[in-house]
Amino acid sequence: MHEYDVLVIGAGIHGAGVAQAAAAAGYSVLVLEKNNIGSGTSSKSSKLIHGGLRYLESYQFSLVRKSLKERAVLCRLAPELVKLKPFYIPVYKKTSRRPLHIRIGLILYSILGGLHKDNLFKRIRRKKVERLDGLNKTDLQQVYRYYDGQTNDKKLTQAVMKSAQQLGAELYCPVEISLIDKIDTGFSLTFKEQGVDKKVQAKVVINAAGPWVNEIHKLVSTEVSSLDVELVQGTHIIIDTPAPSGIYYLEAVDQRAVFVMPYEFEGKIRTMIGTTEKLYQGNADDVKVTEEEIDYLVNVYKTYFPEYLNINIIEKFAGLRVLPKNEGSNRSLFSRPRDTILHCALPQFLTLYGGKLTAYRSTSELVIKKIKPGLSKRKRIAYTDQLYLSKDLS
Ligand SMILES: Cc1cc2nc3c(=O)[nH]c(=O)nc-3n(C[C@H](O)[C@H](O)[C@H](O)COP(=O)(O)OP(=O)(O)OC[C@H]3O[C@@H](n4cnc5c(N)ncnc54)[C@H](O)[C@@H]3O)c2cc1C
Repeated sequence: MHEYDVLVIGAGIHGAGVAQAAAAAGYSVLVLEKNNIGSGTSSKSSKLIHGGLRYLESYQFSLVRKSLKERAVLCRLAPELVKLKPFYIPVYKKTSRRPLHIRIGLILYSILGGLHKDNLFKRIRRKKVERLDGLNKTDLQQVYRYYDGQTNDKKLTQAVMKSAQQLGAELYCPVEISLIDKIDTGFSLTFKEQGVDKKVQAKVVINAAGPWVNEIHKLVSTEVSSLDVELVQGTHIIIDTPAPSGIYYLEAVDQRAVFVMPYEFEGKIRTMIGTTEKLYQGNADDVKVTEEEIDYLVNVYKTYFPEYLNINIIEKFAGLRVLPKNEGSNRSLFSRPRDTILHCALPQFLTLYGGKLTAYRSTSELVIKKIKPGLSKRKRIAYTDQLYLSKDLS
């Protein structure tokens, strides 16, 4: 039976990232994916490669600093896939975050980004504001502009997986895992691939199954420690109005941030709006966009872009965030910690909870650091901060 150093469950951005980092470190790697690459949360995100300006309000400074650093790395490694875009923050008479609040946030964001030129911001001059994408000008006081990254999350995940495979990682997909058995040397996994029963062994298992992580624990033959988490649904819609020239960072009636952004969909640049945030209970496979979420997003759009009265929704999708349950359970979903939690569910069995698309590479490097002591010495073959990620998957 084939034995791998590292077996990764899930080919979302974290599974692909861990596979790449492990293969680069010289380990033999197998990834098992139940659908296809990036078919889970990693194709349902807001597609931002960003520090997360809004996370400053919940004091997640180290997450913002780390993410801004990773944004710079990804702009360098994947220039076809990650592009800096202008972000506009309009402030109206009734906006709850006042200009001083926004300025302080943007100054802090620049500092956490190392005062690099890509992190500088400015107030847009009135003349330019007049020409901004049909933005509502009634009671508009100021508009700020800063820069952050945008990607195609699925294509980025595919590119990272391809890089992992080029380094020797193997992928079985689609598979159905039926049993994870603890054995003396590590783990033995039983699964079906295209109707054929297969069994492999691995010294270490990385559970990167996104919203399904705790479901994976149920397949393990011994008792496993799971963290209590909540799944939070976030929906986006793509509409057929002219795409904006940049990304608008807007305040909804409940004071949450909602983005209106240009996004390439089926070969055309369209307008994408998102996201919502609501607690999800149920099977992660059954998540669906609700009418209430669509109304919420359309209302935000119509408030800020009143010129466009007839809106056709051409695509909608919902994803699930994994957020820790006990940590700050009295905090709003919006302000809960967004960093990844690396949880040792069993010796040599690491489960990844939550996290951000942006920070996948640094998270994956941290995973390798954690599992290294349990693995035999291998000769490193590459460094993930030097591996070019191409849009071309052929
Ligand atoms: C609405 C929303 C917006 C977001 N926006 C951003 C953003 O703009 N920027 C940012 O940085 N982050 C963002 N995030 C966070 C980011 O998208 C996620 O942290 C990231 O995509 C999670 O990736 P993952 O690999 O952990 O999980 P997933 O992408 O869900 O991957 C898990 C994989 O495991 C597979 N799997 C599940 N069960 C099994 C099984 N039994 N056997 C084999 N495979 C299995 C699934 O099919 C799936 O492919 C957002 C999240 C949400 C929900």
